[in-house]
Amino acid sequence: MSTRPVWAEISRRSLVENYRKLQSLAGPGADLLAVVKANAYGHGILECAPLLVDAGARWIGVTCVEEGVRVRAVCPGARVLVMSGIWQGEAEAAIEHRLTPVVWEQFHLDLLEAAAAGLKVAPQSLPVHIEIDTGMSRQGVRVAGSGTTAVTQLLELLSQVGAGSSLRVEALMTHFSAPEVLDGEATRIQRSNFIEAIEAATAVGMQPRWVSVGNSATILGQSGIAPLEALSARIGARLLLRPGLALYGYPPRFERSGGQSAGALQDTVFQPVLAWKTRVTSLRDLASGEGAGYNSTFRAARPSRLALLPCGYADGVNRLLSNRGSVLIRGLHAPIAGRVSMDQTIVDVTDVPGASIGDEVVLIGRQGGAAISAWEIADQIGTIPYEVLCGINLRVPRVLVP
Ligand SMILES: *Cc1c(COP(=O)(O)O)cnc(C)c1O
Repeated sequence: MSTRPVWAEISRRSLVENYRKLQSLAGPGADLLAVVKANAYGHGILECAPLLVDAGARWIGVTCVEEGVRVRAVCPGARVLVMSGIWQGEAEAAIEHRLTPVVWEQFHLDLLEAAAAGLKVAPQSLPVHIEIDTGMSRQGVRVAGSGTTAVTQLLELLSQVGAGSSLRVEALMTHFSAPEVLDGEATRIQRSNFIEAIEAATAVGMQPRWVSVGNSATILGQSGIAPLEALSARIGARLLLRPGLALYGYPPRFERSGGQSAGALQDTVFQPVLAWKTRVTSLRDLASGEGAGYNSTFRAARPSRLALLPCGYADGVNRLLSNRGSVLIRGLHAPIAGRVSMDQTIVDVTDVPGASIGDEVVLIGRQGGAAISAWEIADQIGTIPYEVLCGINLRVPRVLVP
């Protein structure tokens, strides 16, 4: 039981509505894989994965086998894709929990074949998704150069997943490096590399059931989904799109290929799923000139009233928000005063009339007419909402609300 007054509320309704909105934007020609890596972007993997399955998701995406095992325990019927490959000692658990690994290194295949032999699984019975590095240079079989040399490595890998193998290639996958750039050159090049690789694979008899590509930005920006959908149809496969951030209510910001902002397309339709809250646990009054927090980096410029919040950087209140961020109390912004401590944060409530011990405080979310979003915090500390959200520490309980 958690009694400390620090918690994150996870809205069931918003998560489900965001999923449905993404599914309708993706259209009937595509399937969605709901990404719940990194504890569902900080929202609670055990809370979110079953809600997404209930909302219609047949695929759930995690980073590693350990996350996959946790999802399997609460989503017995879902397909679970392990997106960052596998490592020594993980193949048995992946097979036993019916996880589907993304593979691209020789050692991934070796680990899976050895584990499959040990567990005596039938030939061709373990589905894997092969990732193709079409230009992000992060993970995947590299397709570089031109013509046949470009796909040599891919064809070599595929040749090992033939008749004698325990494995079966179920999908070919790639990841775009700049999907938020509308009509971007990078996506165009990656897409054409991907299409070339798929055509080479099908030419040697591969029949993937899914062509897996894209994230939230790909769906919202509709960046080149049509040609991939057409290709999928041509080879008898379906498109699998992999949204993460937008599920949680944060659409990406788009750019034009020239670099100017295109804002957040479809901004209004996504509701943030998470609200991070705490309560005022102490109050004190300072005279002008008195300091607060480590090294007194806050100095009262006037007689001031300060409130104490029982959460700090160990909870995910980024220390760069010291003297910069704010929280909501009684529907008003209260600025963070001084340095964020490990377990505590001081805020200035001089301009929040009536602020009292026990008042609900919003770190992320809405209160009255005011709101603080993960985008706003990200802007204040020079990062992205992904990092703000998955930075909310595990010791903050996630509480499902309607
Ligand atoms: C994280 C991730 C996604 C989801 O990206 P969002 O920008 O959160 O929608 C999709 N595919 C892969 C491979 C990922 O790692």
